[in-house]
Amino acid sequence: MALIVQKYGGTSVANIEHITAVAHKIKTAQQKGDELVVSVSAMSGQTNELIKLANAIDNNPSARELDVLVSTGEQVTIALLCMALHKIGCGAISYTGTQVKILTNSEHGKARIRSIDVEPIKAQLKNNQVVVVAGFQGVDDKGNITTLGRGGSDTTAVALAAALQADECQIYTDVDGVYTTDPRIEPNAKRMSVVSYEEMLEMASLGSKILQIRSVEFASKYQVPLRVLSSMVQNPQGTLITSEENIMEQVAISGIAHQKDEAKLSLIGVPDKPGVAFAILEAIAKANIEVDMIVQSASAREGMTNFSFTVHRDDFNKAKKILEKTKQTLGAMSVQSNDRVVKVSLVGVGMRSHAGIASKMFGVLHNENINIDMISTSEIKISVVIDEKYLELAVRSLHSAFELDK
Ligand code: ADP
Ligand code: ASP
Ligand code: MG
Repeated sequence: MALIVQKYGGTSVANIEHITAVAHKIKTAQQKGDELVVSVSAMSGQTNELIKLANAIDNNPSARELDVLVSTGEQVTIALLCMALHKIGCGAISYTGTQVKILTNSEHGKARIRSIDVEPIKAQLKNNQVVVVAGFQGVDDKGNITTLGRGGSDTTAVALAAALQADECQIYTDVDGVYTTDPRIEPNAKRMSVVSYEEMLEMASLGSKILQIRSVEFASKYQVPLRVLSSMVQNPQGTLITSEENIMEQVAISGIAHQKDEAKLSLIGVPDKPGVAFAILEAIAKANIEVDMIVQSASAREGMTNFSFTVHRDDFNKAKKILEKTKQTLGAMSVQSNDRVVKVSLVGVGMRSHAGIASKMFGVLHNENINIDMISTSEIKISVVIDEKYLELAVRSLHSAFELDK
């Protein structure tokens, strides 16, 4: 008998028909003799609808009240799923994050899980019940409802699996696993049968929205075997996310990630002296704006430098205003900006042992006449910032040049 945690995402519980289908899947798994803990998201689109309602009152609503509101989406689906399970003769009980005590810190909208009280869950499993837990939500030590950030039901599932020491955590979604790139952009993308935690973490951090970053961090830290599968097909194959040691063959490039909605800002002609980077980024950090890529380069004028960085497009106007002020204080020449850029990244642990990946990547982009705005690298990834109009072209031509479609 195995203990399995399953998670069903928004599209998998989008309507009553889908919820009923999920109930049948759960019943079949339970009949095989496994113990099941299931975490669900809100019905597809519901969380966005709730945020829209809040914004119709206030563009900047109280973070505490926003969490009270958006957490209701998952409360709907846990109850409906239990009803669907009861209807087909399967014992099931639902718990909200507060009831099962998914204890988090108090950072509304991006709370981090501290602990989970697994005793009530274990007691219900002994009772032969399927335990259905609301994804995305928790409670802080003062009893306030918190949420874990968009896509946070993945993290609920992995945290449950870690706390319960489950045999596997299965993430059911609308694609059958992790693909070499987003199949919505490249229809020739191929399913990976296995991928390392490290690569998955890079892919999630670099924009592949298939799994929330925190869920991969959790899985890696607690060595939770994680599988991404389709809830829409009969015998899904899925992708196993596991330790690098368990993977036999290392290809140079495993996948391509992309991040839309980036914006680039540059301060041109800043005096080249100690403390300049600090002065520029301190002001940005104080405004709570996250900076992604940073490049400092020599300016055409001696003793001067140019300083560029990227931020999320939502923070573009705010960051630009701050940079205009910094331009005055530092006596820089000008601010240049472009809020129509995207980031495309190659990811693969095999990069450590394969030379020439970067030059091949730049050659492919050159052949397509795509200009590279910024470059950043780590041991297992190379990212470039390019104009947003070339996103699809860049992803597809790199996908084919690195033979990810083979
Ligand atoms: P859920 O609602 O089940 O949580 P998400 O929409 O969060 O589902 O995640 C699934 C989506 O992730 C897919 O429909 C796909 O478009 C997107 N995606 C992005 N990158 C990848 C990738 N490398 N492999 C598979 N899917 C990806
Ligand atoms: N319902 C939440 C969201 O849309 C959490 C999730 O789906 O994982 O972000
Ligand atoms: Mg998701």
